[in-house]
Amino acid sequence: MTKRFNGKRLLVTGGAGFLGSHLCEKLLAEGAEVLCLDNYFTGRRGNIAHLIPNPLFEAMRHDITLPLFIEVDGIFNFACPASPIHYQHDPVATTKVSVHGAINMLGLAKRLKCPILQASTSEVYGDPNVHPQPESYWGHVNPIGPRACYDEGKRCAETLFFDYHRQHALSIKVMRIFNTYGPRMHPNDGRVVSNFIVQALRGEPITIYGDGQQTRSFCYVDDLVEGALRLMDTPKEVTGPINIGNPVEFTIKELALAVLRLTNSKSELITRPLPQDDPRQRQPDISYARSALGWEPTVQLEDGLKKTIAYFDDLLRQNGEI
Ligand code: UDP
Repeated sequence: MTKRFNGKRLLVTGGAGFLGSHLCEKLLAEGAEVLCLDNYFTGRRGNIAHLIPNPLFEAMRHDITLPLFIEVDGIFNFACPASPIHYQHDPVATTKVSVHGAINMLGLAKRLKCPILQASTSEVYGDPNVHPQPESYWGHVNPIGPRACYDEGKRCAETLFFDYHRQHALSIKVMRIFNTYGPRMHPNDGRVVSNFIVQALRGEPITIYGDGQQTRSFCYVDDLVEGALRLMDTPKEVTGPINIGNPVEFTIKELALAVLRLTNSKSELITRPLPQDDPRQRQPDISYARSALGWEPTVQLEDGLKKTIAYFDDLLRQNGEI
């Protein structure tokens, strides 16, 4: 098979994060030279340690809220804390990385006349009252709530991308990422998949927020990265926004039961209060991704969970926790 990014020099911001590190890995496999940028707020060196010996890979510590002057052929903008615990830890910094970070990376793309792909999010739909969510839905976001720093930051970033496109004819690609899981998720990021797996492996109670009837649609990281590669590989006319996620919807209770079964855990299920502005339901409409990219997810939740469980099992053993 021909390599899709052969000889291209590509920048991945947030490259040491969960998604970024998988993206760096796949880009190298596709023949690219990769410059990985991270400020290591949620990214971890361990996520990219195996890539360091590769002469086509370079890691650089940098915070994209500050300008950057380098030469590349394309940019994947993935830098931003993405889990509620992390993005609410320093909400002002979250808005800054989304907005100032986007301005800096768009400015770089403008100078270099290179394409730039934005990792946007299903959070732009807020707590949606249209279900499933198509790209044409404008969303239902609380602009002053605890999730707003991320939701509105990412919405403003989308605005900037489309204004740079209209005003400066920049080639942009905006992907809206729905809940994604897999190896290298941060064990303490409070995300439901990592929480449940770590709790089940430690034999601790599984914390269900609210009644567990809220839904999410979980996409395995390999499928997500393939969507990003296909989107970057489209002609200039394809800008998105484009939903990339798995349309198979589960309740949080169903997820908890699947994790218990696959880990053979005896952990009990306990309930905790539902966080403020927690979306009731979320499911991507991926018709556009299917037609524009010929893309759809291929990994079933059960198979993805098994790989993710194996990763956390190794990690907890290495840390002497189990
Ligand atoms: N959740 C839960 N228990 C946990 C962590 C999360 O029940 O230990 C719920 C949370 O309230 C939400 C869903 O799982 O309804 C997904 O949460 P996550 O933080 O993974 O992502 P997001 O809310 O951004 O989709």
